[in-house]
Amino acid sequence: MRIDLHTHSTASDGTDSPAELVAAAAAAGLDVVALTDHDTTRGHAAAAAALPPGLSLVTGAELSCRLDGTGLHLLAYLFDPDEPELLARRELVRDDRVPRAQAMVERLRGLGVPVTWEQVARIAGDGSVGRPHIAEALVELGVVASVPDAFTTEWIADGGRAHVQKYELDPFEAVRLVKAAGGVAVLAHPGAARRGHSVSEVSIAELAAAGLDGIETDHMDHEPAVRERLRGLAADLGLLPTGSSDYHGTRKTCRLGEFTTDPEIYGEITRRATGAFPVPGAGGTEVA
Ligand code: AMP
Ligand code: FE
Ligand code: FE
Ligand code: ZN
Repeated sequence: MRIDLHTHSTASDGTDSPAELVAAAAAAGLDVVALTDHDTTRGHAAAAAALPPGLSLVTGAELSCRLDGTGLHLLAYLFDPDEPELLARRELVRDDRVPRAQAMVERLRGLGVPVTWEQVARIAGDGSVGRPHIAEALVELGVVASVPDAFTTEWIADGGRAHVQKYELDPFEAVRLVKAAGGVAVLAHPGAARRGHSVSEVSIAELAAAGLDGIETDHMDHEPAVRERLRGLAADLGLLPTGSSDYHGTRKTCRLGEFTTDPEIYGEITRRATGAFPVPGAGGTEVA
C-alpha cells in the first residue's frame, strides 16, 4: 500500500488538473491519494470522476491558519464538504485570496514590475489564487528565473517587499470546525522552518489537547533529524504521524509518493472520519 495524503491540483496552486493528478498518482504506483487544495474542495468531483481502477481518493483540503503571527497549514481529511460552518469559513478564506493577490500586484507595480491582475487571474484560472500564481507571472515577465526564486524577501516571501498577508483562520477554531464536520485534522509540515511554517512543540501540544489528530512528520521541507524529532513528539502526544509529498505538479520539485503514510496510520484516519468515506476507484481495493 502506497499512500500519499497531501497534493494540490489546479483547484489551487498545483499545475495538474484534478483528473490529471489522479492519473499521475496511479502512474506513480499509489494506492491512495488525498487531494488537499488550499482552502477549497472544488477539485474533488473532477478527481473522483476520473479515478483510475485501484486508486482510492481521500477528499481533503489544506486550511490556511495563523497562530502568534506564524502561518500554519492544517490538513483536513474526510470532512462533510457541505457542513455549513466549515464551508462558510473555507469560502471566506478562499475568497479573500483575490483582493489579497490584487494588493500584491499593486505592491509589485509600485516596485516597477509591469505585472497585471489579468495576467495573474489567467494563470490561476479557476484555482484558489495564491503566491505561486504571482510567482509564475514574475517568471513570465523575466523578473525571476523560477517560481521558488520569487519566494525571497525581495519579492513575495513572508515579510517580503510585495507580500500581503491573507485572511487566515485561528487553528484552534479550524480544528474544532473540522472535527465538528466529521473530519480528521493533521498539522501540515510543522517543522518547515525555512518556509516560516515552524510550529513550536508547545503549540502542537495545545492543538493536540484541542483535538488535533496528527502531524505530518515526513515532508520534503523536513530534514531527516526533524522527521525523527517530530515522530518522537507524535508518539509523546498520541498524534498520528503522516508522510506526504505536498505535490504541486511542475511548481515544486517534489514527486508524487516521495513521502508516504503508513497503512496502519491511514486505517486509523479512515476509522476516525465520519464526514466522508474514501472514494474507491473503479474496481479499487478498499482499506478497512
Ligand atoms: P499563499 O497560500 O498564497 O500564501 O502561498 C503559499 C504557497 O506558496 C505554498 O502553499 C506553496 O505552494 C508555495 N510556496 C511557498 N514557499 C515556496 C517556495 N520557497 N518555493 C516555491 N513555492 C513556495
Ligand atoms: Fe501550495
Ligand atoms: Fe502547506
Ligand atoms: Zn500543501
